[in-house]
Amino acid sequence: MEMPRPSTLKYIIIGDTGVGKSSLLLQFTEKRFQPANGSTTNVEFAAKMITINDEPIKLKIWDTVGQETFRSITRSYYRDSAGALLVYDITRRETFNHLASWLEDLSEHAGANVTIMLIGNKCDLARRRAVSTEEGVQFAEDHGLYFMETSAKTAQNVEEAFINTAAAIRENI
Ligand code: GDP
Repeated sequence: MEMPRPSTLKYIIIGDTGVGKSSLLLQFTEKRFQPANGSTTNVEFAAKMITINDEPIKLKIWDTVGQETFRSITRSYYRDSAGALLVYDITRRETFNHLASWLEDLSEHAGANVTIMLIGNKCDLARRRAVSTEEGVQFAEDHGLYFMETSAKTAQNVEEAFINTAAAIRENI
């Protein structure tokens, strides 16, 4: 008997350079953290199986690998994405201030149904925090996004962020 093929969800990870996009992907897919990511170690694409309510789902996750510096992210990057992880760095206020322009990019290039998880990353660096949790919660509420704070370093909430996005997508369908 043939096994049913798992359904596939495409995710993209967006946000300013240095917020930890590659690190989140590496922590989620390989459960490790590289303290100083050179551009050479960046992963462009990774896939991982998860299970939501007994349903196996294959996540195909795309990372911008430095293209965000040049504002050259192509339409094909956004196309058919079911989930978008929009990441800022809680220790760098400007990465939070740029969220609105990332949302504009998304609404221009991704489908209207994309589920967006806002991620305040580097929550292990509490002493250097420049954006409060409440501000993250408020921004998410104002724009209809899901929200989590994560640490790609300690792995806090990393798996949850990816899995909760899929759960939210499934509930939306
Ligand atoms: P990207 O440009 O958004 O892909 O960011 P990177 O994943 O390359 O991360 C930028 C820098 O921040 C690297 O030196 C990472 O090691 C570091 N970094 C990423 N996530 C975390 C985190 O959660 N905590 C800490 N302390 N450092 C992080």
